[in-house]
Amino acid sequence: MLMKTLRPSPISSTVDFDKDGVQHGFLRLPYSRDDSAWGSVMIPVCVVRNGTGPTALLTGGNHGDEYEGPIALYDLARSLDAKNVSGTVIIVPAMNYPAFRAGTRTSPIDKGNMNRSFPGRPDGTVTEKIADYFQRELLPRADIVLDFHSGGRTLDFVPFCAAHVLPDKQQEKKAFDAVEAFAAPYSVQMLEIDTVGMYDTAAEEMGKVFVTTELGGGGTSRAETVRIAKRGVLNVLRHSGIVAGAVEKQPTRWLDMPSGDCFCFAEDEGMIEPLVDLGEPMKEGQVVARIYPVGRTGAAPAEIATKMSGILAARHFPGLVKAGDCVSVTAVVVD
Ligand code: CA
Repeated sequence: MLMKTLRPSPISSTVDFDKDGVQHGFLRLPYSRDDSAWGSVMIPVCVVRNGTGPTALLTGGNHGDEYEGPIALYDLARSLDAKNVSGTVIIVPAMNYPAFRAGTRTSPIDKGNMNRSFPGRPDGTVTEKIADYFQRELLPRADIVLDFHSGGRTLDFVPFCAAHVLPDKQQEKKAFDAVEAFAAPYSVQMLEIDTVGMYDTAAEEMGKVFVTTELGGGGTSRAETVRIAKRGVLNVLRHSGIVAGAVEKQPTRWLDMPSGDCFCFAEDEGMIEPLVDLGEPMKEGQVVARIYPVGRTGAAPAEIATKMSGILAARHFPGLVKAGDCVSVTAVVVD
């Protein structure tokens, strides 16, 4: 009987992940199209290796309109010296490269959302092929995985590093220790709206120590959040023993997202009037935003009330909102 085996990934790497030194190259994904018959998607990759030791896999641009991660990782890739490394650092600053180049959350080629495409397919769409390469080639190499996110064009967050509550408590503790080391102003036990197809879940199911961030949003970055990202990634490498030196500690406030009641969704379209800003405290039942119908004057706005007490951890970013949009996220301060 023939065994059904997955075909190899169509992606080839121009760097050798097992070679010492600093290498800058590409994950080359063949992509035949109108403007390039035998063309490829060239995803930048950097590997810095010095002997045996743990491997960190660092990614930004999982969503293409989030910038703190790519800024910190392009900067790290050009500055990290192999002699300061024990082990291996794999840096992919713009994971969904077509989306990153377009400045959009999803890929302009196939509308693929990288963080809903795992485990991917070697014979799937461009986005699925990239996911498959991470699933079968890069994640298995990693001991620790740091995947940078921010809010993108439609959300804005208080700056935090996060990990998930996991069934394996040892794995969970290692992840929360890495979150603490990242030393963002906030550290979060994060609840996901929908975990199917996430890179996070793929890494965690492989037993990896996985940490992520939300460092701002609005489709841009700020000086403060970029500083947090640059410090955080070095701290995680120091914490992992890959880069020498002490973790640069900063005060952090731990937040919990205990249930789906954290999230408030719009049931109306219109114009948002924020009544609470990011980081401000809120009481259960407090109105955090109003949504004005804009087709006529004299109509009362819909009110969005938080279902729990806590702080405003995230908010819808653009001034106009549609039904179904996430308006606010409440997180509970852990004392
Ligand atoms: Ca994101």
